Amino acid sequence: MRILVTGGAGYIGSHTCVELLSAGHEVVVVDSLANSSAVALTRVEKIAGRSLFFRQVDINEKAALKSVFDEFAFDSVIHFAGLKAVGESVEQPLYYYRNNFCGTVNLLEVMESYAVRRMVFSSSATVYGEADSVPIPEQSSLSATNPYGRSKLMIEEMLGDLVRARPNWNIDVLRYFNPVGAHESGLIGEDPAGIPNNLMPFIAQVAVGKLDRLNVFGEDWETPDGTGVRDYIHVVDLAKGHLCALETVKETGGLRVYNLGTGTGSSVHEVRKAFEKAAARAIPFEVLGRRPGDVAQCFADVSKVERELGWKATYDLDAMCQDAWRWQSLNPDGYSKV
Ligand code: NAD
Ligand code: UDP
Repeated sequence: MRILVTGGAGYIGSHTCVELLSAGHEVVVVDSLANSSAVALTRVEKIAGRSLFFRQVDINEKAALKSVFDEFAFDSVIHFAGLKAVGESVEQPLYYYRNNFCGTVNLLEVMESYAVRRMVFSSSATVYGEADSVPIPEQSSLSATNPYGRSKLMIEEMLGDLVRARPNWNIDVLRYFNPVGAHESGLIGEDPAGIPNNLMPFIAQVAVGKLDRLNVFGEDWETPDGTGVRDYIHVVDLAKGHLCALETVKETGGLRVYNLGTGTGSSVHEVRKAFEKAAARAIPFEVLGRRPGDVAQCFADVSKVERELGWKATYDLDAMCQDAWRWQSLNPDGYSKV
């Protein structure tokens, strides 16, 4: 298949490109490089031993996007392109709605005009809002607590409307839980701009000496050790989930929604200890108050994706930390010092 990967230079996109190339697919990446480096793509090619096509295009630029569709006939689109910083989305909601929501409208319009009606979309467990109970199945009620999450929810609703009006579209919505880790080569990984917001990259930067200590946001949650519990999933498992979705597409069209997680929750202290083992060093930490907007526990019910796609996460927390540490220690400044 020839696949357009929007946002393919980013963290999850780059790992997915490796899997797509390794499975023999032809890959065309469009990325504005708003939050990534083209170096990631040269490394993807190195790992896979195959080339891809890259066009630096913002999906909001319709003419530029059309020129990519003129150049290549696509079988399918995997749509990663989007901004993802929750705090920034609260500060700049219109920027997020334009980039994520309007960008997706633009992409869908171009796809329709070129009769490319197959998309795999990156959604997030954030659409479950404050879930009533765990594990969280796909049919749980949905809500958003910030503009980033609302942009994902709005896109999901729009995709549902599109498929109802145009039953020949084939769309998979994948709701990611907490992607972490890196490719085992240590060549590609997560490269957050500035101080990381998320737990694993923050711990990795403490381990490598760029940050002094981990701030643990609350030890008074209703969880076994009092710290927040999340469903961390290795980014390579996540990437493979996209291939499973592509390869099991139904002829009939429609919209499918799947959780991508391990189905197991890990606490902040469990992640910290696993990382200490992987990096063979202590991670200093301090317990602070709860972070606004956090929930106690969030982990996936993965029975639907296992049953219907035959996909199951394979890496455990130790492997996630070992791979995150290899990437961080080999690339202490991410792609910026290449
Ligand atoms: P990322 O920032 O590393 O990758 C996103 C890529 O999209 C970047 O390379 C960025 O330059 C590009 N991009 C952004 N706006 C664009 C535009 N208008 N046109 C073209 N390219 C654009 O993020 P990621 O972690 O790889 O996330 C990929 C997708 O998965 C995003 O849609 C994100 O919201 C979603 N997601 C991520 C997580 C996570 O924790 N990483 C969790 C759930 C969902
Ligand atoms: N967390 C923490 N310190 C940090 C970052 C995160 O204690 O510096 C906690 C956070 O409160 C949550 C868990 O780690 O319980 C995962 O947070 P992350 O931001 O990685 O994911 P999300 O909360 O978005 O699922």
